[in-house]
Amino acid sequence: MSQKILIVEDEVDLANLIEITLKNAGFSVSKANDGKLGLELALSGQFDLIMLDIMLPHVDGLEICRQVRINDASTPIMMLTARDTETDRIMGLNMGADDYLTKPFSIRELEARIKAMFRRAQVVTQVQPTSQEIKFGDLSIEPERHKVSFNDKVIDLTSTEFDLIHFLAKNPGQVFSRSQLLDSVWGYNHLGYEHTVNSHINRLRAKLEACADLPKVVHTIWGVGYKFEFL
Ligand code: CA
Repeated sequence: MSQKILIVEDEVDLANLIEITLKNAGFSVSKANDGKLGLELALSGQFDLIMLDIMLPHVDGLEICRQVRINDASTPIMMLTARDTETDRIMGLNMGADDYLTKPFSIRELEARIKAMFRRAQVVTQVQPTSQEIKFGDLSIEPERHKVSFNDKVIDLTSTEFDLIHFLAKNPGQVFSRSQLLDSVWGYNHLGYEHTVNSHINRLRAKLEACADLPKVVHTIWGVGYKFEFL
């Protein structure tokens, strides 16, 4: 059964465009063009994800978000905002929204973000089979403690660096492109954000290489991407 998405957006053309995109991506979609109907539908409990424009007739998106969150902590909520201001974003997140998109956004980005929200929602509700310690020789990666150590010496990593090495080490020998790493580690893929991956890989590598006797584990495959291999 396809996942149900509610779009509350008073710009009819934009709402239709989002609807077509999400339907093509395999979701089932309902729309409300004003805040009153939007609130009613959002509170019905029949949606797996809710997209809320902020400026709406009758009831605004922040109020809808607040009311949904009174009884429902888990349905993913994405705010759509026309104003790229810190206050709007923070207000939305404070009301319990999970993510936001600033207009104008690309349809490709919208789709990627929605899919990422569903993935994250799944990760939270599932028991993760990958939470066991991973060991290669004296290199140990402990997901539950977010800890990497070599010869019992802790390697101090940021949480993104940890997620990167953990993801690569779970799939040893497999080559991942920057774009795949953005999808899997960051949870969504922005066009033009590939350099983010390079800089995190470089910092991760510098920290690993600072460990005496640790063989090289993060390998660059030129023109393709990266892989983990403990040789
Ligand atoms: Ca609006």
